[in-house]
Amino acid sequence: MRAGFPDFRLGNVLATSFTATLTERHGNAVERIPTPHRLVDWLEVNGLAVDSCTTAQLDLARSLRESIDVAATAAALQDALPASAVQVINGCSAEGRAAAILTPEGKRQWRLSSASRVEDALGVIAADAISIIAGERDGKLALCASPTCQAAFFDTSQSRTRKWCDMNTCGNRQKKARFNAKQRRLPS
Ligand SMILES: [Zn+2]
Repeated sequence: MRAGFPDFRLGNVLATSFTATLTERHGNAVERIPTPHRLVDWLEVNGLAVDSCTTAQLDLARSLRESIDVAATAAALQDALPASAVQVINGCSAEGRAAAILTPEGKRQWRLSSASRVEDALGVIAADAISIIAGERDGKLALCASPTCQAAFFDTSQSRTRKWCDMNTCGNRQKKARFNAKQRRLPS
């Protein structure tokens, strides 16, 4: 596994792991797939290995990513889904020709129609986004409580009360901020 990206098999949701490749959308945004090569790395880590990626395919991937973020945010707020975002997600889903394959070990794998078909990988991600936005999966869409993040994430906790998209980043930062504020209030 390559470093730098979380592994979705540890319980992360594919679609929101993908939207998390742009962090701090409401602060100083950090792009984690700045080049086609980085998208290739991310896809490999997430079980969707491709052998190449063009800049046009990277642009398409980013357009899908932002559309998922917009639609998932609207769904979390129970707002109407923006038509343009829905169109991009549906377009990517319809373009995908990946097949679900059952391995002898009983695991699901995705087989792309060709190793250069980034569109197939995006189709799998789009279908995953559709399943969570449509409420087909056990969990609830929510928005990260960090004001500089506000990322839509999929809460699968039993109580559905998760506050942050990621405990290791936003959760930790908020805890530290609270701790520091408390320290400042203490008389010296
Ligand atoms: Zn967050």
